[in-house]
Amino acid sequence: MSKLTVTLAMALLSALLTSSCTLEQDDSNKVLWPLANTKLSKDPKVEQRVAELVQQMTVEQKVAQIIQPEISFMSLEQMRQYGFGSYLIGGNTHFQGNKLTPAQDWLAYADQMHLASVDASQDGSSLPTMWGIDAMHGHSNVFGATLFPHNIGLGAANDPELIRRIGDVTAKEVAATGIEWLFAPTVAVARDDRWGRTYESFSEDPTIVHRYASYMVEGVQGTIGDDFLQHHRRIATAKHFVGDGGTEKGVDQGHTWISEQELRDIHAPGYFSAIESGVQSVMASFNSWQGLRLHGHKYLLTDVLKEQMGFDGFVISDWNGHRYVEGCSMVQCPDAINAGIDVLMVAEHFEPFFHNTVRQVKQGIIPMERLNDAVSRFLRAKIRWGLLDRGKPSERAESALIKEFNSHQHRELAREAVRKSLVLLKNNDELLPLSPKQHILVAGDAANSMAKQLGGWSLSWNGTDNKNSDFPAATTIYQGIKQQVEAAGGSVQFSEKGHYQGKPDVAVVVIGEPPYAEWTGDRQHLEYQLNDKQDLQLLKKLKSAGIPVVTVFISGRPLWVNKELNASDAFVAAWLPGTEGQGVADVLLTDSSGQRQYDFTGKLSFSWPKTDIQYQLNYQDPDYDPLFAYGYGLSYGQPNNLPNFSEKTLYRASSEEQQDWPLFTRTLAENLHFTLSVQGGNRVLADKPLSASADGTSLIMQSVNMAYQEDARKLVWNSKRTASFHLGYSKANKPPERIAQQRVLTLDIKIDQPPTAKVELAALCSEKECAYQQDITQQLLSLSQREWHTLAVDLSCLSLSAESKLLDVLKISSRGQLNASIAAIQLQTVQSDSVMTLKCH
Ligand code: BGC
Ligand code: BGC
Repeated sequence: MSKLTVTLAMALLSALLTSSCTLEQDDSNKVLWPLANTKLSKDPKVEQRVAELVQQMTVEQKVAQIIQPEISFMSLEQMRQYGFGSYLIGGNTHFQGNKLTPAQDWLAYADQMHLASVDASQDGSSLPTMWGIDAMHGHSNVFGATLFPHNIGLGAANDPELIRRIGDVTAKEVAATGIEWLFAPTVAVARDDRWGRTYESFSEDPTIVHRYASYMVEGVQGTIGDDFLQHHRRIATAKHFVGDGGTEKGVDQGHTWISEQELRDIHAPGYFSAIESGVQSVMASFNSWQGLRLHGHKYLLTDVLKEQMGFDGFVISDWNGHRYVEGCSMVQCPDAINAGIDVLMVAEHFEPFFHNTVRQVKQGIIPMERLNDAVSRFLRAKIRWGLLDRGKPSERAESALIKEFNSHQHRELAREAVRKSLVLLKNNDELLPLSPKQHILVAGDAANSMAKQLGGWSLSWNGTDNKNSDFPAATTIYQGIKQQVEAAGGSVQFSEKGHYQGKPDVAVVVIGEPPYAEWTGDRQHLEYQLNDKQDLQLLKKLKSAGIPVVTVFISGRPLWVNKELNASDAFVAAWLPGTEGQGVADVLLTDSSGQRQYDFTGKLSFSWPKTDIQYQLNYQDPDYDPLFAYGYGLSYGQPNNLPNFSEKTLYRASSEEQQDWPLFTRTLAENLHFTLSVQGGNRVLADKPLSASADGTSLIMQSVNMAYQEDARKLVWNSKRTASFHLGYSKANKPPERIAQQRVLTLDIKIDQPPTAKVELAALCSEKECAYQQDITQQLLSLSQREWHTLAVDLSCLSLSAESKLLDVLKISSRGQLNASIAAIQLQTVQSDSVMTLKCH
């Protein structure tokens, strides 16, 4: 009946690792990387202290110094035992399991880790550890912190002094929690707006990034020769070195195929200025350059960054970034260290990594000289900062800054940044500014949504589970408008869907992208709401009722919004403004006497696309043809009525239609969801890191890692009734046309606890029936446990029609107990060479 074949997912993993090739260059056309012009020099006293310490350290102590575990995987006891040189909290870790843990508790924990690290009873070392965090737009992982606009908005503000002040306030809030080190600023120059990290980039223009990088580093670290690394000043990180914003098709962690000159001139300027300002740390990037992953790129990390550019700080790797290096795995990577990585972010596998590295040093695979250099670089930064002499975090003077945490002043600065980041794209008939004495309708699902206005890297990594109540001191855009309008004697009505009683004088509609982080924000095209034009319908509905419409657009990047622009009288690009939403009202509304409060000063630091396929639209391109050029931004009193723009779409999924259909690879495909159900009951949407069926116990789904963070789901059945996992749509839909070409469904599966009852796999289901159904109990029992296997379901005998209604693409049902993880679910056009195939029937 079925042709059984099994492959290890290792094949898939190794296919992800690119082969290495080095840039060919001869001396005549060698690209030179100049020395960064910094006033920071090596202090002989610091150097002597570093040398003495390194001389006394054992191999074990040195290796522990350069390994960085993550707090949800490492205990205090392990810190005491190994004496790791640093640790981090990841973007998706809720501190002590609770995202609302107050800032004070962080300081107490920093003390405990510090004490565990200086306890020499087990590892013989009393060197203090250092805590690192992604303070990406303010102290963004900590409850109650002041969150600034994401970098893309700050780029539009084009105000370097503002950046320095934001760096300063961020450093103060970080200092209040006892944390010493920020994984910020991102100095990427995003060149393809499909990239999910575009909002972390100040600009597509290296000039802005170059200026900002030094101001942000000075804001965080202080000024060389003045308050450098003193008091509340923290250690900054310029990231991700280098070329992260230049990957092919804007794919996160992808491949950058550009010349060395372009790499230097477009993507590296932020590093030159960061080094000038004395940045102590640089994070290596996940991407490859010309086929070789940065984490193993000796030429770029050592020859260029350290030697030619003269960077004397330390290079930190990105989260498990070493796994990309050829010959490496999660648990060992001598080539990353040999290439020039000094500190390794080994979130969960730090113990085997430690032992493997110690062995590799002892065997000479990692030369002692290289290890000593890595340790010296890290200790140099620690000593410069004073870590060895400043005592435990709560004893440091700057811990008193807890009193200023999220202070009025900090919030005022964030509010100022919001005002300055807004870019006015359209203001026909000078609709703006609005009098607050009117009757104003506020609509749109981003108007009263902290999640939308914060974006990713805000209390949680993707920011999708954020609620307004998670940010009690913050103000949404709607709340900001309401406060000012009511104070001036006007009235505000709020309705997400734009319902109203009594025709409003004007509508402010706040719409935009849902939150995302890293690759979960990657997209294939630039059209806003390609499949579901809900917001456009809302704008049109209001406009056709004769209500003037102001659209405030929340987004992590420019998107193609010609239709929405045409349906609006005024249109403001508000990016991802952060916690102080009242900054929007400050600019949109006049005061009660009709005087404008603040003008629009923001100018685009990213070119705005004229078509939905202008992915790589960048200032100074030879055939530059944007809708709104780099630097564009209206201000008040500039009559400038815009015509309607072309609504023709050019993006065709056709090329993709011939291809495989990834359903859940690193993320879910558009419009697909996971749901869980128990026989006879309702389906529950499983969109959280931890979700459960309606009864809370029968089927539990948890985000876990296969090759990437959260690219797999662990499913735990514990049920007397049949419980099902579904991958499908929220309602039965016509499937995409390319369904007709699909021949096989593949998925990776790992069994942690084998089934105790029948397991059934079904595919391509309408509301009533499934085109494919198969008992897979025996197959699952035959798989070796705790290893990934690829399972292929042959669908070639079915005729898959784009006309029929599709609800679930895949469904797995069982009773009893089963504990299995699944990943990499896709439909493919050709028979896969995977080895366990369930035959078509
Ligand atoms: C990101 C970095 C971040 C690190 C730690 C990585 O996935 O690429 O920007 O600093 O995680 O959270
Ligand atoms: C971590 C983040 C990290 C991300 C991507 C998440 O699980 O918590 O810190 O940036 O994975 O690597």
